Amino acid sequence: LASRELKPESSTVTAGSLSVGNGTIGVMAGPCSVETSEQILACARAVKASGASALRGGAFKPRTSPYSFQGLKEDGLKMLAAARDETGLAIVTEVVSPDDVDLVSEYSDVLQIGARNMQNYRLLEAVGKSPRAVLLKRGPSATIDEFLLAAEYILDGGNLNVMLCERGVRTFESHTRFTLPLATVPYVQQRTHLPIVVDPSHGTGHTSLVTAMSKAAIAAGADGLIVEVHPNPDKAMSDGYQSMNFAQFEQMMTECRRIAEAV
Ligand code: PEP
Ligand code: MN
Repeated sequence: LASRELKPESSTVTAGSLSVGNGTIGVMAGPCSVETSEQILACARAVKASGASALRGGAFKPRTSPYSFQGLKEDGLKMLAAARDETGLAIVTEVVSPDDVDLVSEYSDVLQIGARNMQNYRLLEAVGKSPRAVLLKRGPSATIDEFLLAAEYILDGGNLNVMLCERGVRTFESHTRFTLPLATVPYVQQRTHLPIVVDPSHGTGHTSLVTAMSKAAIAAGADGLIVEVHPNPDKAMSDGYQSMNFAQFEQMMTECRRIAEAV
């Protein structure tokens, strides 16, 4: 179902204010984690003013350590929904368990499947039954074939509103948190009609590298970006070292628009 042989025209994924694909570059931006209603509202206003078309924010966080902040769960979802009510931005947020799909669907517009869950087949089947769009992140050690077959589980469930996301893979290199292979963008576009989005925040793990990789992703033909933005990255409860502040995000968007006009 994902194959371009079967469906030669590129698909557009839409969810509220967000549209991704067929020449429309959708930018999803916001904090790694929802922390307070003030924090998420400030992010929503700022990223909207800079031109983002959706607000991202994690309420259910899949943390490497069980002792790290695990997210505000339903309270966080309510804060995201309030930010949508005020700004009109579509909400992108992660769901980590099949049991939570209905709950997260109630408050959000796009269900994010995190890299760690790319091959959680029961979860993929569950979001395949949800009326919400899905952002499927590539597993850090998954091949492209495995990635496309994971998408197939969602499509096969009846949900055709699926975006893929390259967020970096695991290599021997330790200068960056992951290694961000941008050849994924044109390669995946040859194989599938589904839009492909790039996550330069997790893909690099360093705020100072995010702008360059965002521009490179757009130059490579990416259909969208998902970027971590925080009012005060030094104080973030997760992923502050790769998050942009509002001024950095505004500057990044200006530079990205120039690249988008040129491609
Ligand atoms: C995130 O988007 O904050 C996240 C946890 O991403 P990933 O699943 O790509 O690690
Ligand atoms: Mn994160």
